[in-house]
Amino acid sequence: MILVRTRDALAGAMSTLRASGATALVPTMGFLHEGHLSLVDRARELADRAVVSIFVNPLQFGPAEDLATYPRDEARDLSLLEARGADLVFVPAIEEMYPSGEPAVTVSPGRLEDRLCGRYRPGHFSGVLTVVAKLFGLVRPDVAVFGRKDFQQAVLIRRMVQDLNLGVRVETGPIVREPDGLAMSSRNAYLSDGERAQAVGLSRALLLALGRFHEGESGATALLEAVKDELARFPLLRLQYAELVDPEGLDSVDPAESGSVLALAAFCGTTRLIDNVELS
Ligand code: AMP
Repeated sequence: MILVRTRDALAGAMSTLRASGATALVPTMGFLHEGHLSLVDRARELADRAVVSIFVNPLQFGPAEDLATYPRDEARDLSLLEARGADLVFVPAIEEMYPSGEPAVTVSPGRLEDRLCGRYRPGHFSGVLTVVAKLFGLVRPDVAVFGRKDFQQAVLIRRMVQDLNLGVRVETGPIVREPDGLAMSSRNAYLSDGERAQAVGLSRALLLALGRFHEGESGATALLEAVKDELARFPLLRLQYAELVDPEGLDSVDPAESGSVLALAAFCGTTRLIDNVELS
């Protein structure tokens, strides 16, 4: 496994890798877990070479968010990636990604920012799309792999590639969960034992609504009420939003159809968690 930290070293290593076949990129912010590693597996299935980036992108954190405390463990990440068969890891410093400070030109998510998480995290998705566009420009992968855990992010990246003709194939991987159902997330490390025990409420609420959908309930109000009722059983959880949307335009749907996505965000103590389920 090759480790590079600069754009120049990346360019050199990529020209060698590209000569040996198709390349797939998995962008991450590190503190890796099985969810990230499942995307590395998928990258290796989809291409000859798997490239992983680790970069905690300041541009996607709001002023009151957790940039300074975001968990990091580079040595552990590198050994997990080596064991998983990644070919190249790009770990740039902030100055390497943003040599002139905050970029003057950024990518706008347009009207898709006014949906789901975008409404509560102004600037977040512009930061995400900007860094992903930069990574695409630097790595020039054939394929890029993202997790469905960050549902709105995956939708926006697919749309950016389509609308801006970036020429990268975008693939998504399923949400990897802890044995009790909690979606894996680097931010789960913030949870106290008591919070961790209640965080399971998010996936329970989504599963319960999925069960109601399977039983024939498709009304948005009834499905969202089922989510809220279940979450109310977990006093440490504070719902930010729960919405039922179409998986492309992210518009609210009622009634739900097969393929509609039920997405939510909730605070568990002070930690903001997200999860979603496709109704199918
Ligand atoms: P992050 O490091 O949080 O920026 O995530 C990097 C990539 O891993 C994104 O494409 C995420 O959607 C994906 N990811 C994070 N958690 C999971 C999970 N539990 N299952 C699948 N993919 C995930």
